[in-house]
Amino acid sequence: MNFPGWAGFWAGSNHLFRARAGEFVSFEIVVVQGMGLWGSHLFLAVRTGKVYFGCVSFAAGRAHCIGFAPWRQSAGLSSTWVDVEVTCPVCATVNVFKAPGSFGSYVYREPSRYQYVFWPATTDFFVYTCRRCHLSTAMLDFEDIPPDKITALAAMLEREGAIGGAVVPYFEIPVLTRLDIARKVYDVLGRDEVFWCEFERITGYHLAELGQSKHAHAARERALMLAEGLLETETSATAKETLIIVGTMRFFTGDPSGARAALADASKRTFTGADRDAAGLDEFLTQLIHDFRQRFLKESGQF
Ligand SMILES: [Zn+2]
Repeated sequence: MNFPGWAGFWAGSNHLFRARAGEFVSFEIVVVQGMGLWGSHLFLAVRTGKVYFGCVSFAAGRAHCIGFAPWRQSAGLSSTWVDVEVTCPVCATVNVFKAPGSFGSYVYREPSRYQYVFWPATTDFFVYTCRRCHLSTAMLDFEDIPPDKITALAAMLEREGAIGGAVVPYFEIPVLTRLDIARKVYDVLGRDEVFWCEFERITGYHLAELGQSKHAHAARERALMLAEGLLETETSATAKETLIIVGTMRFFTGDPSGARAALADASKRTFTGADRDAAGLDEFLTQLIHDFRQRFLKESGQF
């Protein structure tokens, strides 16, 4: 496969460096495993016989690649993180953030997949927050702020971006505080329904992890409403994925029979979305339907 025009950066081992457009063309095989982590995709790349694993974002028409590292299938269920210096596009403060150093395909086997939420969105490191102006976004979006939005963002953050308490590393600021500011940031930036549906699922995940089940329920209802709206407007190419999201969100908002119906519909379809590795994702989705039924719908009598 050929990816002309790629530009961005990747982190390999402990070293962050910049790549020029076209750098990836030298790879013999690149498999993009489209998973939609806030507009990002995990991928496998093979070069001179070695397999690499990474995370790439196609935000703003260009690709950012982070967490690019040799992939070892036997690496165990732990991921490593590296410190990266990132300059805030709003206030020019240099922050130290965490970026994925190495990880494996096991991230797709974590239980959060039942909420259609995936690592690294499940970690405390995922939402970057500037220590000075409190600009907060998903990690891959932080440096992708359009210049024409900076004035509006600075004004919003001045007005609504306060964080009380001592200055601590960003990942020690409660994730819900960071998500709350990120929501306002993305309101200013403008995002589509696919994005907001994922944002609500991620918010629901963290709320549930923190025991705030009532608020988690509300976030999942918002995600469900967005996903059901998408079903009415999107093409059938991606409906399998959206139906699974509808099914999972119905289940976690107390509607197992609605979940069953959505998954039954999804199981009859094939994902053929053109911008991702359709065959790989379709296989993953089929397995996810199977696993979800076994894990949840069987025991609730809806299978
Ligand atoms: Zn800042």
